[in-house]
Amino acid sequence: MQSLIDHARAFPVKIAETSHDFSHLARGQRPMAAFVSCSDSRVIPSLITGARPGELFEVRTAGNIVPRYRASAACAVAASLEFAVKVLKVPDIVVCGHSHCGAVQGLMHRQSLEALPLMQRWLVGAGRAVRRPATDRIEPVGADPVQVAQAHLLAQLDHLRSYPWVSQRLVVGRLRLHAWYYTVDTGEVLACQPGSRVFRRL
Ligand SMILES: [Zn+2]
Repeated sequence: MQSLIDHARAFPVKIAETSHDFSHLARGQRPMAAFVSCSDSRVIPSLITGARPGELFEVRTAGNIVPRYRASAACAVAASLEFAVKVLKVPDIVVCGHSHCGAVQGLMHRQSLEALPLMQRWLVGAGRAVRRPATDRIEPVGADPVQVAQAHLLAQLDHLRSYPWVSQRLVVGRLRLHAWYYTVDTGEVLACQPGSRVFRRL
């Protein structure tokens, strides 16, 4: 932790010493895209995309999950996306899944979630897990972690389309959705082409 504190203390000096001009950031933000990714520490959206401050509106959740739209939900993901779409008017939303994801492991091996009741509930909201009616437990969803992660990712795009202000903008071409799959040990990004469920190198 100490190295993080030291860096944060020195950060204003570093900014002042470099040619990076942060002063314009005080006037507001106009991000190029909203980027929904996992909270996993190995997934760093600005590192992957090269985005500078002000260019990426990040929403990070366990398992890059976007719950389905519910008008009455007090949901941090939904509220963040509402702001990004309706106020900031981002033209693109990227949902970025990743390899070696603990949440995807949880979808595949429910015993790994036994001590995590909140995570169990969150994964049920992922739309890929099936809740057993009698036991309130989730069923495994497949054996191949890459396929499960990519199907899970596409489910989140389907959830995004359930938001009325997303679907309205998609219809008129003011918004595009992207599914990216990031491999943590190589840095490779795969993307799913519109209208397809096949992931290819970006
Ligand atoms: Zn993850």
